[in-house]
Amino acid sequence: MLSNLAARDVETLIHPYTNLATHRETGPLVLERGEGVFVFDTDGRPYIEGMAGLWCTALGYSNGELVEAARAQMARLPFTHLFSGRSHDPGIELAETLKELMPVPTSKIFFTSSGSEANDTQVKLAWYFNNALGRPEKKKIIARQRGYHGVTVASASMTGLAGNHADWDLPLPGFLHTACPHHYRYAEAGETEEAFSQRLADELEAMILREGPETVAAFIAEPVMGAGGAITPPAGYFAAIQAVLARYDVRFIADEVICGFGRCGTWFGGQALGMRPDTISFAKALTSGYVPLGGVSVDEPLYEAMLDQSRKLGSFGHGTTYSGHPVACAVALKTIEIFRREGIVAGVAAKAPHFQARLAKLAEHPIVGEARGIGLIGGLEIVADKASRRQYDPKAGVAARCVAFAQGEGLIVRFLAGDRVAVCPPLVIAPDEIDALFDRLTRALDRTR
Ligand code: PLP
Repeated sequence: MLSNLAARDVETLIHPYTNLATHRETGPLVLERGEGVFVFDTDGRPYIEGMAGLWCTALGYSNGELVEAARAQMARLPFTHLFSGRSHDPGIELAETLKELMPVPTSKIFFTSSGSEANDTQVKLAWYFNNALGRPEKKKIIARQRGYHGVTVASASMTGLAGNHADWDLPLPGFLHTACPHHYRYAEAGETEEAFSQRLADELEAMILREGPETVAAFIAEPVMGAGGAITPPAGYFAAIQAVLARYDVRFIADEVICGFGRCGTWFGGQALGMRPDTISFAKALTSGYVPLGGVSVDEPLYEAMLDQSRKLGSFGHGTTYSGHPVACAVALKTIEIFRREGIVAGVAAKAPHFQARLAKLAEHPIVGEARGIGLIGGLEIVADKASRRQYDPKAGVAARCVAFAQGEGLIVRFLAGDRVAVCPPLVIAPDEIDALFDRLTRALDRTR
């Protein structure tokens, strides 16, 4: 029997990424408030938010300074936009701050409201750039199987997950997917991580040559694959990939929507994984998830090309009403101020060994094949047979059951493609809360067996 609120939900709401058929029976988990790393449902039951919402609430749930930053900006100037040269001080200050923080040469910042829009913007800018340079045939985008880049038509075309393509008539032509760098699942018997990385780089090179390098504009990758399974790349992966991209003048887009702002114990995940991209997409933890904001870094050669296009076309024809919303920019500025003052990134690096040790211990569990991560992110692969790495029948929904048992234990974690379970708590999680998280996850795994 669904509660009144749950019944009203079922009658009125369409939920993203939800089985709409089973949702009618199970109803929603309705959350009411949050405090620290905990969220509480309408019965007052607490849960450790082991996913930081959707990989975003870096500073936890009750940060009064962020609330006050939003309130103050709302009271002062709740809305203005950046169209037609209009501006506002939190936007200017945030762009300056991000320029300082970006680990890639950055001339300007372009704001969006979400990660999908940021990646959509990256595709359009890659096309615009090559048109400006007089090479209109250089337009193809290479992403990776199991990569996740969002849901707009272009970003979903880059996403490498079946559920984002089946019956959506995607990907669009001109979007290709190269292999997923998941050593545990896809390496050949006895293949080292380095050899696997090199094989994947060779496959990417073969794809570029097959397509014709003069037709390939960009390659996009997350530092750690998020929605594809919380997959940490194998040793040497980005070094090998970058060598290929450099040979064929293929622009490298780092999708830092999850890993940006501290997740891997560095400001950007790519810094921990040896990535040297041309541009970065960011969102989520920039505002600790309190309000929507995303964006991309624009390097000098791209900016010069954009300037030329404006001279030629009369305007830069891209942007949305809420890109660079002043309230979101004010909250982002406060988030970064707190990150700096409280040493949040160094704090993640200090807590990571404990988190990763508890994660790695789960690999001893009879149904866990792999438990691997970096910083405060980790992925588990649930298997029917550890020796052969055989997966359960997908219809059995074993990882989904584990996630449901975790919820029963007072822990929110996420089930992802291919019987994977992700853990990605707020960055402010305390060591004893890390222990509580893994204790609850262990009990959920015991019940799943
Ligand atoms: N890129 C990555 C790596 C993501 O994880 C996500 C969302 O989870 C997106 C892009 C899309 O962001 P949004 O949901 O804000 O559109």
